Amino acid sequence: MEKRMSRDELLNNFQAALSNRYLKVFYQPQVNHATGKIIGAEALLRWIDPEFGMQLPIDFVPVLEENNLIHDADLFVFEEVCKFQKNQMDAGLTVVPISVNMSRYDFYGYDYPAELEEIRLKYGVPVKMFQVEITESSAIGGIQLVKSVMDKLHSYGYLVEMDDFGSGYSSLNVLKDLNVDIIKLDMNFLRGNIGGRGGVIISTVIQMAKWLDTTIIAEGVETLELADFMKSLGCIYVQGYLYFRPLPEDEFVEALKKLYHEPLKTSLHLIDTLDAGKFWDPISMETLIFNNYVGGAVIFSYEDGEIEINRYNDKYITEIGMNLDETDILKSNPWDCLDESNKKIYEDTLKKAIESRSEETCETWRNISSKCCGDDTICVRSFIRLIGYADNQYLFYAMVQNITKEKHHFNSIYDNEVKLEHAFEHANIYAWEYTIATKQMRPCFRCMRDLGLPPVIEDYPEPVIASGLFQPDYADMYRDWHDQIANGVESLDAIMPLTAGRVPFHVRYTTEFDENGKPIKAYGSATLVVNDKSEES
Ligand code: C2E
Ligand code: MG
Ligand code: MG
Repeated sequence: MEKRMSRDELLNNFQAALSNRYLKVFYQPQVNHATGKIIGAEALLRWIDPEFGMQLPIDFVPVLEENNLIHDADLFVFEEVCKFQKNQMDAGLTVVPISVNMSRYDFYGYDYPAELEEIRLKYGVPVKMFQVEITESSAIGGIQLVKSVMDKLHSYGYLVEMDDFGSGYSSLNVLKDLNVDIIKLDMNFLRGNIGGRGGVIISTVIQMAKWLDTTIIAEGVETLELADFMKSLGCIYVQGYLYFRPLPEDEFVEALKKLYHEPLKTSLHLIDTLDAGKFWDPISMETLIFNNYVGGAVIFSYEDGEIEINRYNDKYITEIGMNLDETDILKSNPWDCLDESNKKIYEDTLKKAIESRSEETCETWRNISSKCCGDDTICVRSFIRLIGYADNQYLFYAMVQNITKEKHHFNSIYDNEVKLEHAFEHANIYAWEYTIATKQMRPCFRCMRDLGLPPVIEDYPEPVIASGLFQPDYADMYRDWHDQIANGVESLDAIMPLTAGRVPFHVRYTTEFDENGKPIKAYGSATLVVNDKSEES
């Protein structure tokens, strides 16, 4: 029986939970999506109460934080992880680095790095077997303290990860000031929509991480599409339900036995030797264009409708690809590679950048020709800014990204969606999603169109029984189905007459369960029975 503990129950039971070992560490493996191998894992706290059942961090961590108890919990987790690593080592089993979460409250009033060290040395596990995750919110109380704790962790040899990157408001600032080894990019904010602004943000963050030589792990990856998309952008490490849910210790040991592991490639800290501060300063942009930490960049002038490229950097050529050489670029007329509609897009963007005096972006398809590789068509995203002007002449700087792969990926996803839609049309399928806790039903587009259903139906299935969509003689059976779903039945199906016309439909339900085996949703479908075999027999 699962029941969420109240705040008071959490507080009253915490010490007992700690000493009676109701607190457990679960492990969620991280995987290299290119090879399928486990590269590490994150330790996640669970509270399995004998009376109340499984409690999740989202409910109890904030309560522990407010009451100054999270520190004990975090040290408990670290010690459990040490024991785990020691057991793996002693048994000659695979050992991968495990990340522990450091609460922002661990920063205040404790020497957390020294405490970790003391525990680690007690078990004699090498420091490279651990990583420490901090969140952007740690910096709320001032960056200086976070910096000094990070330096100390680094001095002992721990790698530091920035957790939930992208969920905060000051991500870029935090990154500029903190020398993190690994960024964990929270994919939850995308909610499956990689075609929109989210996709653009992600690709830009990955690009930025590459400039900083920082490893990225995408977390919350639930679908293959998303993992493939991330891989296409150069981010191959993923953590998410696609591969594994957080696992109890014994299942994690089994996963490690079954799947080969490989080391995470960490990168150099170039940022230390370069002046990172300038990179973020737009005023010095011009002087920075040709140094190493911008991507492909080019300076060109624009006068009376003509463009002339003045300078470009090496990365410009790598971005555009094709082994272009100086003559290919400087001697050719840049307009030649754009057809009329793409030329208009680009020229309009230049005009916008002149007006706005700030960065403007566009995407254009170009036909590129090089002596060595012949012809190709690529898609380029340009970030354009005016950097000088005199009379009719304008000087621009543009950063470019070759997004051809990304574009093809979007197009193939789009094609698939269109195909799926057609398939649904042809197969006469009506589909819907039923959420057990809220009794809400969300119909597919087709249900809304053909049956006039609203986007959300409350207190399901009563309204569709009342409307006669589900017929009175089947009403109790259909109600009973929803009780069975709430009680954890895995699937249901039957042939039922729908609407006043009593058209026979094959109605099916498949239930979805959470990681604890609790039913959360059910997916329903109704297919027109063309040749009703049940009547023949
Ligand atoms: P987090 O550190 O960002 O951990 C990742 C969370 O995402 C975990 O939630 C994990 O179960 C969940 N997750 C993993 N893959 C997927 C996916 O594909 N889709 C979705 N929707 N979620 C996924 P969990 O275990 O409930 O933990 C929630 C948060 O509680 C953690 O977020 C972390 O901030 C905190 N937490 C957990 N354990 C500890 C701990 O030992 N100490 C501290 N201070 N905080 C902890
Ligand atoms: Mg974490
Ligand atoms: Mg996270």
